[in-house]
Amino acid sequence: MSGMSTKNALIFVTQPTNKNSIAVLAGVVEGREDLALSLLFLRDDPSLHIRLQECLHEYERVVIAFSFCTPAAGHVAHLAGQLRALAAESHCPVFWVAGGPHPSGAPEATLRMGFDVVVVGEAEETFPALLRHLIDGRDYSQVKGLAFLRDGELIRTGRAPPVIPLDNHPPFAPLHRRFGPIEITRGCPFACRFCQTSFLFGGQPRHRSPEVVAEWARVAQSHGIPFMRFVAPNALSYGSPDGREINLAAVETLLVEVGAVMGRERVYLGSFPSEVRPETVTHEAIRLIKRLAGNRNISIGAQSGSQRILDAMHRGHTVDDVHRACHIVLHHGLLPNVDIIFGMPGETETDRQLTIRMIESLAKMGAVVRTHVFVPLAGTPLAGAALGTIDAQTDSLLGRLARLGQQHGARSKMRRSRAKMRRSRAKMRRSRAEMRRSRATLRVQLCCGGASDSERRGA
Ligand code: SF4
Repeated sequence: MSGMSTKNALIFVTQPTNKNSIAVLAGVVEGREDLALSLLFLRDDPSLHIRLQECLHEYERVVIAFSFCTPAAGHVAHLAGQLRALAAESHCPVFWVAGGPHPSGAPEATLRMGFDVVVVGEAEETFPALLRHLIDGRDYSQVKGLAFLRDGELIRTGRAPPVIPLDNHPPFAPLHRRFGPIEITRGCPFACRFCQTSFLFGGQPRHRSPEVVAEWARVAQSHGIPFMRFVAPNALSYGSPDGREINLAAVETLLVEVGAVMGRERVYLGSFPSEVRPETVTHEAIRLIKRLAGNRNISIGAQSGSQRILDAMHRGHTVDDVHRACHIVLHHGLLPNVDIIFGMPGETETDRQLTIRMIESLAKMGAVVRTHVFVPLAGTPLAGAALGTIDAQTDSLLGRLARLGQQHGARSKMRRSRAKMRRSRAKMRRSRAEMRRSRATLRVQLCCGGASDSERRGA
């Protein structure tokens, strides 16, 4: 990309499920003098193909970046295949980059979808470094944190060091008006077997300092963002050195600092998109949140009513902890939103009955249950397990609770989720077939002396 700074573009393909990650990625590259490129955001909607065509016409070199999670993988494979075919018809060299939870957990499968490079794990250092190499036309194979294919073999450039401190990087991209919740903690010591967090970010928590969080809240507010929410593995372990103990002094400082900027009632801690672990819920902690935040509810990660399943998943808390946490939250006049996952690997009829009993008891108490179906996520120990399922009795109980307003998510969501996974797998199969066909075409073109995509790319 050297020598054509004003004609280089970085295009993010945005979807409802990746808008927060795109805000973070855009934040680490926007406004940097060493990255002379235009940042563009193309929504994954029916206008995408036309808008991409316009960009390929307007710019001389383009990087297209995707960030996605496992349930979206099939769709992305299909979409990227279509966009590659479109790009192949233009004269603009395109470089394809993927990152986020799924590509990081399954880099080889992602590369075989047709991406040139995967940014593995934390992108704050690696992604700008990759872009700098592409702009300068330099070999990026020494940049830590990348994976790519060479002669069909997977090459990894080594793990990028964890981002320390988080304070050095923006949580979103104000210059492009891309905002999201502020990540206050990264890394989790629990390594629950179904979750990607510990496997992607390690077990040692790193916290963004309260002053820096407040400063970014001020930036967001000056752009008209009215509320502030946070991302953390366990919101109550903010400031905790090991992520297991709670540090209410740190939580208090955070809420005071951010509340001074946004107004107390416009700050939310421990509700969507983060949650709290049940064993960390105490009267003191909930009193603190009531006093210094605007919460009406607290999200509690319960996951199962079977102690056997909790232990098998390495959750590190008990079923009793869930009941106790809900009692405390309700005692202080807040609503517990309890997350449950059905269909974990190894779940038996007895485990399901125990979970149903727990749901009935929580609903009677006044809690709301948010049910999910197990999805095997790339990079976790359960990546190869089967997609979760739900039986008729559970389905009917959840339907009854949903009609009473005490359950969200499960039934229709599970059906949608299963249908989506099926569609996703079918798309993945179609896209692999398309890739095989296009490789065959490329071989024919090369034999006939035609320029390949990578030659035109010049990267
Ligand atoms: S589910 Fe929560 S506690 Fe378990 S590893 Fe993931 S973030 Fe940590």
